Amino acid sequence: LERDALFRKKLNIHVSGNDIPSPLQNFAELSSRYGCEPKLLHNLEALGFKEPTPIQRQSMPVLLSGRECFACAPTGSGKTLAFVFPMLMKLKHASKDGIRAVILCPTRELAAQTTRECKKMAKGYQFRVKLMTKQIVRKADLSKFYCDILISTPLRLRLAVRKKKMDLSRVEYLVLDESDKLFEVGLIKQIDSVVKACSNPSIIRSLFSATLPDYVEELARTIMYDAVRVIVGRKNT
Ligand code: ADP
Ligand code: MG
Repeated sequence: LERDALFRKKLNIHVSGNDIPSPLQNFAELSSRYGCEPKLLHNLEALGFKEPTPIQRQSMPVLLSGRECFACAPTGSGKTLAFVFPMLMKLKHASKDGIRAVILCPTRELAAQTTRECKKMAKGYQFRVKLMTKQIVRKADLSKFYCDILISTPLRLRLAVRKKKMDLSRVEYLVLDESDKLFEVGLIKQIDSVVKACSNPSIIRSLFSATLPDYVEELARTIMYDAVRVIVGRKNT
């Protein structure tokens, strides 16, 4: 514990919450501590990622321990991998059991970019990673739609749920990415409706952001259970 505290201090990682798992010393610990398949770990190597970034070191073990999390770290610090990789590890393999994970992004461009990142990390696996496109929301009935990971803006996802019967009741992982921007653009109503539609009681929610304004944190606390807070650097810069 003392060692964890020193390591966090060195990397400028600030944590709060109950029973926080130790930060990763290296990516190999994803295998030794959390049983990551060698094939999946190899994808990191293929992408040229040698060392986890500070936000990855702390938030990946939190998510892999099945804990909800809000994470704040500067732009460009590798937050996408921090939530996508644990998601892939937990989902294990492709399945047709409805929609299993959802990532909400504030803009369509960010959603498209996140989809590309997910596909790169899932290379060699059969996972269905789907971007919520105009074509999909135009369909009359989405009640049978399934995929392993769905990436969308809140607006499109809410439309799909309310008007096209998309079923989010089996979602096991929900990520609100760039949550400061998500809340900034006045999407609270849409986000709220998506969070409610994700009714699986064992869902793990997380929130990733470059800044964590107090009102975002307060909103997050109203939807999350026993969450761990991870901040790299300072909260509002
Ligand atoms: P953020 O969401 O925090 O702004 P991104 O997830 O978009 O950052 O990552 C920024 C860049 O860093 C991307 O090009 C990504 O591929 C790269 N990256 C992520 N993790 C690592 C790592 N551990 N080592 C090297 N590069 C990384
Ligand atoms: Mg990002």
